Amino acid sequence: MRITNENIFQTYSRYPVTLVRGKGTKVWDERGKEYLDFLSGIAVCNLGHCHPAVVRAAQAQMKKLIHVSNFFYTEPQAELARLLTGNSFADQVFFCNSGAEANESALKLARKFSLQQGNQNRYEVITMHYSFHGRTFATLSATAQKKFHTGFEPLLPGFRYVPFNDAGALKKAVNKNTCAVLLEPIQGEGGVNCPDDDYLKKVRKLCDEHGLLLIFDEVQVGMGRTGKLFAYQHYGVEPDIMTLAKALAGGLPAGAMLAKKHVAESFSPGSHASTFGGNPVCMAAGVAVMEILLHGTVLENCRSMGTYFMQGLESLKQRYPSIIKVVRGKGLIIGMELTIEGKEIVSTCLKQGIIINCTLDKILRFLPPLIVKKQEIDRCLKMLESIFAKL
Ligand code: PLP
Repeated sequence: MRITNENIFQTYSRYPVTLVRGKGTKVWDERGKEYLDFLSGIAVCNLGHCHPAVVRAAQAQMKKLIHVSNFFYTEPQAELARLLTGNSFADQVFFCNSGAEANESALKLARKFSLQQGNQNRYEVITMHYSFHGRTFATLSATAQKKFHTGFEPLLPGFRYVPFNDAGALKKAVNKNTCAVLLEPIQGEGGVNCPDDDYLKKVRKLCDEHGLLLIFDEVQVGMGRTGKLFAYQHYGVEPDIMTLAKALAGGLPAGAMLAKKHVAESFSPGSHASTFGGNPVCMAAGVAVMEILLHGTVLENCRSMGTYFMQGLESLKQRYPSIIKVVRGKGLIIGMELTIEGKEIVSTCLKQGIIINCTLDKILRFLPPLIVKKQEIDRCLKMLESIFAKL
């Protein structure tokens, strides 16, 4: 810890714990203490830590070919792209390394597409209050949360912010310069905010009426987190562009931007690139992740355990109405909004061996691996109950 604090930028407030090993839903620190991980590296280890199939795929690929430039074709990249397009609205994929990069690519694509439609000044993108899209200048500018902007202004021009889940406000914000709408189907960092059932349909309709691209940021909620492969599949709408990262390669760094063909065609050789994007090892891991999500029982487990967990949290809400305001979520992304600060609760859980998270000060966020078992959820519920009982 001392070496980290002395030698690494202080950009993270870390817990005083050094993690050295992980397996399934558990991680261990350097003293051998076990933790139940209900954060999954912030929605990254959806299949649990060090899933054997992911490890095998990455190891096998490492022995064959670790990296070549994108001047060449590679098999794992082709295979992962085929699995993604074959199981989504999209026709083509651009690979990168992170969520911010995937969104950066999407924003560039939206501007290029708009220009190629002959719209010189149509470059504005509408995004939502409490969104989170990344920390690069474009994605920071797209992120409609003041606290992330402070100290970095002036931001990139061309963004307009409206409240999430308010189709009327969105309609009012559309103007002659708008080229796209970017949103998370369910907001993660912004407090696990789920849309009304018909909101995304209204957004789609509005985009169609005005010739706007609809971009879904599924960096946090994609790859099975909500109980379907992609969150948009719950709502009966399809975007024109979607971004993925986090759980895409089972813990290895990978991001992707997916798009319909007529949109993807706006990019030509030289438009956009990434040295490591589509790295064979990460792609091989991604193929293993997709195969498991498509053919195993993980999504089913996510749905049933999500319902079970939500019921348990709801029943805590009934018993502690002065502390718990609301419980919301889908599948295994669940938020519990409190009337009090959540920091101390997270620390107490950690001390007692369960990793949870708090976002926006008062919203406890639960993101267990999608392979989580009933007994593990019971353990978490019991711990929360004992904490609330003492408050
Ligand atoms: N988009 C969403 C919805 C996210 O939740 C995040 C990260 O939390 C990002 C983008 C940024 O991803 P990354 O940290 O990989 O750049």
